[in-house]
Amino acid sequence: MEEAEVAKPKKNGGGVRQCSVCNRRKAALKRPKTLEQICRECFYTVFEEEIHRVIVDNQLFKPGDRIAIGASGGKDSTVLAYVLSELNRRHNYGLDLFLLSVDEGITGYRDDSLETVKRNEIQYGLLLKVVSYKELYGWTMDEIVKMIGLKNNCTFCGVFRRQALDRGAALLKVDKLATGHNADDIAETVLLNILRGDIARLSRCTSITTGEDGPIPRCKPFKYTYEKEIVMYAYFKRLDYFSTECIYSPNAYRGFAREFIKDLERIRPRAILDIIKSGEDFRISTSTKMPEQGTCERCGYISSQKWCKACVLLEGLNRGLPKLGIGRSRGLNNDIKQSNGMKNMQSKQCGTLDF
Ligand code: SF4
Repeated sequence: MEEAEVAKPKKNGGGVRQCSVCNRRKAALKRPKTLEQICRECFYTVFEEEIHRVIVDNQLFKPGDRIAIGASGGKDSTVLAYVLSELNRRHNYGLDLFLLSVDEGITGYRDDSLETVKRNEIQYGLLLKVVSYKELYGWTMDEIVKMIGLKNNCTFCGVFRRQALDRGAALLKVDKLATGHNADDIAETVLLNILRGDIARLSRCTSITTGEDGPIPRCKPFKYTYEKEIVMYAYFKRLDYFSTECIYSPNAYRGFAREFIKDLERIRPRAILDIIKSGEDFRISTSTKMPEQGTCERCGYISSQKWCKACVLLEGLNRGLPKLGIGRSRGLNNDIKQSNGMKNMQSKQCGTLDF
């Protein structure tokens, strides 16, 4: 388990402390978010009830909603599926929950993690829908990487995943998509958007619900949930999840931002919540030009340009000019290149966190 802090006996021989919540049982761990010494039972309760409060206070769901949980088989989405199922029963949310997975076609990574999601389908009794890049776009990530190498693979993957999730959600006829993005992910994205000067993304990356003007709204019930607590919860509950990194992960710029946030958290656990708060409180100057939403002339997907990003990238792949979509080749269709604001996409790393 990643840095789970299990409560240790006191040096003066006084044994393990009492749980600071119930004051009855022995503390079993130190909560990463608050540093409280707490027993397992109280940890489960505070962890789940904090998420319940976030859901209720932000009115994330309505009774009768059909909700797809973006499921990768990783710790975040597995804990999300488990906790949402529990809360749905306990608090009578009245939700119809589904699992929605994307098969990017990454041998040795996604095929294995999908096996985990298939087990989760049975363990939690939730129907699973899998959409694949091969079916939707005619390409797997393995094939894309073979053609383009390991430099801009995540740009393709992130753009394709975004649409794939929307298309899967439409097939399931759901009202909303819930994703497992946690507080660390959001703090990291705030930081990256500041570093890149990406005002459009900065203004929306802290929103708990996004895409209300698009095909399927998305929400993040773990917006204030610390990654370390998710790991602890999954570990103590013995949840079945997959923990291997993508074999094509570049881990460059985003990796540095992640490490920086982890360092800050070590010194001051509140730093994660404070970065999110700072992101929320940014005021975007009214003179900053924001992209206007339209639809792609080619596939009808939402786009602020003539063609959506996926269509531009796909055109490049199909023409054997993969750099078309990332704006680096010479003699390309400048119309398409310029009309799609590709400067932004060149610098993107793992698209799994592209809110
Ligand atoms: Fe796709 Fe993420 Fe792997 Fe990049 S690291 S190829 S975005 S799954």
